[in-house]
Amino acid sequence: MHRILVIGGGYAGFYAARGLEKRLRRDEAEITVVDPRPYMTYQPFLPEVAAGSIEARHAAVALRRHLRRSKIIAGSVVRIDHAGRQVVIRAAEGEELVRDYDVVVVTAGAVTRKFPVPGIDQLAIGLKHVEEAVAIRDRILVSFDRAAGLPIGPERTRLLTVVFVGGGFTGVEGFGETLSLAMALLGSYPELSADDLQFHLVEARDRILPEVSDGPGEWVVESLRRRGAHIHLNVSMVSAEDSHVVLSDGTDFDAGLIVWTAGNAANPVVAEHTDLPVTESGLLQVRSDLQVGTDLKPVPDAWAAGDVASIPDVTSSDPAARTVPNAQHAYRQGRHLARNIAAVLRGRAPKPYQHASLGTVATLGLGRGIFESGPVVIKGFPAWLLHRGYHVLAVPSWERKVRVLVGWIPPVLFGRDIVSLQAVQTPRDAFVRGGAPHGRQ
Ligand SMILES: Cc1cc2nc3c(=O)[nH]c(=O)nc-3n(C[C@H](O)[C@H](O)[C@H](O)COP(=O)(O)OP(=O)(O)OC[C@H]3O[C@@H](n4cnc5c(N)ncnc54)[C@H](O)[C@@H]3O)c2cc1C
Repeated sequence: MHRILVIGGGYAGFYAARGLEKRLRRDEAEITVVDPRPYMTYQPFLPEVAAGSIEARHAAVALRRHLRRSKIIAGSVVRIDHAGRQVVIRAAEGEELVRDYDVVVVTAGAVTRKFPVPGIDQLAIGLKHVEEAVAIRDRILVSFDRAAGLPIGPERTRLLTVVFVGGGFTGVEGFGETLSLAMALLGSYPELSADDLQFHLVEARDRILPEVSDGPGEWVVESLRRRGAHIHLNVSMVSAEDSHVVLSDGTDFDAGLIVWTAGNAANPVVAEHTDLPVTESGLLQVRSDLQVGTDLKPVPDAWAAGDVASIPDVTSSDPAARTVPNAQHAYRQGRHLARNIAAVLRGRAPKPYQHASLGTVATLGLGRGIFESGPVVIKGFPAWLLHRGYHVLAVPSWERKVRVLVGWIPPVLFGRDIVSLQAVQTPRDAFVRGGAPHGRQ
């Protein structure tokens, strides 16, 4: 019996474990998945969760429901000692357990890349997890409620000022969706107008959405500007202390919400806490067949896929090319990795992973999107429909597809739900105060 340990139950890990369950008999392999979250996050839905177009729970795919045979351990791997075939797992409560394995699959993804900008550790929020998307939506709704009760002035302007840092996929989609939410909210807040909203997107390079070519990228910038957004290119954030944002071109303003979406950084567990080989940027060094190591120096019994790994792109003529860290690859790599592990355990040779990109599709807010695949570019509403269609088909399991599809109907009929549940973060307040007004000592 082979003990296979999957570290991370996200995109690549979920599909790897599911593939292993299908391919290996119960008496052949014991599969264990370790993840601090009991669900796989369907990250492409997070911008729409932040905008209230998708119910937060529908972006989370329960591991226990869909991985029937795998053992699920709730915890973070804090050390991988491959020489000893052991990992150290830390549970949420802090206690540690050591787990032995025969084969390890590292699919722990990446983390949000941060820079030492004063103030961001206190104020900024990422957009990689469900709770972050929910908090972004709640913060916007609460800011609208507060701003509506204030006279025109600096505090009202601050509350209605939102800044996204980073113009990649996550930043642009999150920005477009929350701008769309804010514009829709104005219909329920007659005290506020579009002129009160200040939405800033800050990007250090001269263009946004590096995944699309120049023309469509410029169109996205123009379309966001036409919607009243401020797009700052070739500019970075230098400070955000006490909500006061200062940009590298001297622009400054107070912000009520700072969303940090400046790309991916290596997961610390592989960058710093393993004896497996890593690249200079802290990614696991992986061969084209998804086994860890290089062609000259493969590491037996260690496999990796997804954003945690540097994987040769065999479809490119450039031998240095690596597969792009996105869901398109993570999903396929997870499945491929399962096929290869099953093959090797049964004495057959693994095959190289190859997948040529299907193109790029992004939402820019309700009814707006951009799609590019080779020479084909689709803009606006048809691209947005493509985005929704593609992702509802791509989210794992029919159960999730149906929940998401059904959830899209009420907003079409009745508009978005505009209630913030931020109070769930302090659920004992009402009980403790016993009806006393807020602020009473
Ligand atoms: C907002 C947003 C929108 C996106 N939209 C798109 C899109 O439209 N199209 C597209 O192709 N891609 C998109 N992406 C990118 C895509 O979601 C990622 O590339 C993909 O999720 C990577 O899969 P993964 O399995 O490598 O990592 P993840 O899906 O991030 O999974 C990693 C898992 O590992 C767990 N983990 C982390 N550390 C540990 C540890 N130490 N021990 C145990 N478990 C651990 C995490 O909890 C997580 O469950 C988007 C990303 C974001 C954030």
